[in-house]
Amino acid sequence: MSETIIGIDLGTTNSEVALIRDGRSQVLDVDGAPILPSVVGLAEDGSLLVGRAARNQYALYPDRTIRSVKRRMGEDVRLSMGEQSYSPQEISALILKRLKHAAEQQLGDAVHKAVITVPAYFSDAQRQATRDAGELAGLEVARIINEPTAAALAYEVDATQARTILVYDLGGGTFDCSVVRTGDEVTEVLASHGNNHLGGDDFDAKLIMHVLEHLRSEHQCDPSEDRAAMARIARACEAAKIALSNAPYARIDEEYLLPDRDPPVNLSLEIDRETYEAMIEGYIDETLEAVHTALKGAELTVADVDEVLLVGGATRTPLIQARLEQILGMQPRAEVDPDLCVAAGAAIQAGVIAGEATSAVLVDVTPYTFGTSAFGDMDGAPYPYCFVPVIRKNSPIPTANSEAFQTMVDGQEAVNVRVFQGENRDALNNTLIGSFRVEDLSDVPAGNVIVMRFELDLDGILKVTATEKRTGKEKHIAIDNATTRFESEELDAAKQRLAALMADDVEVIDAAATETEEHREAVKARALLEKAERLLESASAEDKEDLVDLIEAVRDALAADDSAKLGPAVASLSDLIYYLET
Ligand code: ADP
Ligand code: MG
Repeated sequence: MSETIIGIDLGTTNSEVALIRDGRSQVLDVDGAPILPSVVGLAEDGSLLVGRAARNQYALYPDRTIRSVKRRMGEDVRLSMGEQSYSPQEISALILKRLKHAAEQQLGDAVHKAVITVPAYFSDAQRQATRDAGELAGLEVARIINEPTAAALAYEVDATQARTILVYDLGGGTFDCSVVRTGDEVTEVLASHGNNHLGGDDFDAKLIMHVLEHLRSEHQCDPSEDRAAMARIARACEAAKIALSNAPYARIDEEYLLPDRDPPVNLSLEIDRETYEAMIEGYIDETLEAVHTALKGAELTVADVDEVLLVGGATRTPLIQARLEQILGMQPRAEVDPDLCVAAGAAIQAGVIAGEATSAVLVDVTPYTFGTSAFGDMDGAPYPYCFVPVIRKNSPIPTANSEAFQTMVDGQEAVNVRVFQGENRDALNNTLIGSFRVEDLSDVPAGNVIVMRFELDLDGILKVTATEKRTGKEKHIAIDNATTRFESEELDAAKQRLAALMADDVEVIDAAATETEEHREAVKARALLEKAERLLESASAEDKEDLVDLIEAVRDALAADDSAKLGPAVASLSDLIYYLET
C-alpha cells in the first residue's frame, strides 16, 4: 500500500483534515467534530489549547489566545501569547500538528506527508510560510494547492470537459471569489478577487450590535465593557445566525446575563430573518461586486460561467444563495458540505499524488425541489399559487428547512397547505404531492404567522409541519417516497388521487393546460370566489347582497367558460373585496 498523504484546509477561522479511504475522500473528526477552530491559546495553568477550548477562552483571555493567524502568514512578526511570543508559522504548526495527530490516531499509523491548501491570492512568501509551518509540524508538504482548485476537485475529479467554474468562498473572516478553469487534466485559477476582512464574523458583529441596542433600550444597560457578558452574547449571536440559515426566526436567550444588576438582566430576544438580512445586505452586495471584478479579471462575463460552487460556512446563508442565483441565473452548487469541501479536495489531490484511485465526493442529494404555494406576485399581478421552494433540489439529505407565511384575512380560521414538487414559479405547473388543512387558528387580524417546516430524510420521506407561531398549534403530514420519480401514467393517477384528496379546496388543474391566459383567469377567479365566500360571513346585509350577486356572476361565467364575461365580473368582485377589506 502506498503511503497515506493527508489533505489539510488550514483556514482563517476553521481547519479540517481529510484523507482517501476506499477511493473516497473522507473528512476526519478532530476532538469529536470535523471542524477544528484555528485558535491556539494557553490555559490558566500554562498548558497548550488548540481548537474549541482555545476558541472558547478567546473573548475572556485575548492576551493568551491567538486567532486568525492565517492573516499574518508571510509577515515578519511575533505574536504574543502569554509571556512568550511566536512566529505565525509556529502558531500554524500547532494547528497542523493537532490535525496530523487526529489522522494518525484514526489510521493507527504515522503520517508524514500532506497537501495543504492556501487562498489563490497568497504570495510566494505566504506559500513558503505555509510550507514552513508544515515542516515545523513534522509534515513534508507534498504540495500546496489553491483553495478554489481543491473545491473544484471535490466536485469533479476527472473533468474531461473544459468548464468554467466560479468558486464563491465566504468564511469566517475572509471572502474570495475565483474563476477556475478545469479540463484536460489541468485545473487553473484564471482570476481571483476578494476581501481579506469580510466574512461570517461581520454578520455576527451586526447581530451583537442589535443585541446591545436592545439591552440599552429595554434594560437600560450597556455590557460592552463586560468581557464575560460579551463572550456570551457573541456565542449566542453566532448560534442565532446559524439557526436563521434554516429557519425564519431565531431566539437569543441568556438568563442572568448581568447577574450583579438589580434586578438581574435576562436577555431574551427574537430575531426574524428579514431583520437579519437587512443587516447583512450591504456585505453581500460587496461580495457580488467582487464576483464581477473576478470575472472581469478573467476576461469573462456571467454568461461564460458553467457552474458556481459555494465554499465556506457563511455561504449557508440563504440570502447569499438567492442573490447569487439572481445575478448568475443558475442555482449555485452546495451539495458538498461548504466548510468541508476544500479539505475533501485537498485529500483528492493527495490521493492523486500517492497514486490512489479517487473520485469526486459523492453525497446523497434530493433531485427535486419541494415547496408550497402562497398568494404572491406573478409578473406584476397578484396570483394565489406562487410556488415557494422550501427544500431546494440538490440539497444534501437528510435536510430540514422552514419558511414563514401569513394569513390573508382577519379572523382567518384555517389554511390549506399544499405540498408541491417541481421547479416552476407557478405552483400549479408543479406536481402536487400532498395537502392538508390547519384549522381552529386564533381569531386575530390578518398576518397571523404560520411556520412551515419541511424535513426530508435519507429514505425520501418528506414530513411537512405547519405551526401557528403564536400558539405552537401544529399539524403535519408525512409523504412517502417523495424523491421517487413518477412514471407519467402514475403521475396522472397520482394527480387524480390528490385532486380527490383536496376536494374541499380549489380544484387541481391539469398541469399541461395551465399555460393559457384563460386558465390563469379562471384560477384567479376561483381564488377570488374562495375569498369572497369567507368574507360573506362577516359582511353587512347590504354588502352581502352585492357580494352574492357578483359571486353568482363570476360562477356563471366560469361555468359557461365565457371569458368575455369573466373578466369584468372578476374585476368587479375584486374591487368589492378590496373595498370590504380596507
Ligand atoms: P474559514 O474558511 O475562514 O476558516 P469557514 O469556512 O469554516 O471559515 O466558515 C466559518 C464561518 O461560517 C463562521 O463565521 C461561521 O459562523 C459560519 N457558518 C457556519 N455554519 C453556518 C450556517 N449554517 N449559516 C451561516 N453561517 C455559518
Ligand atoms: Mg475556508
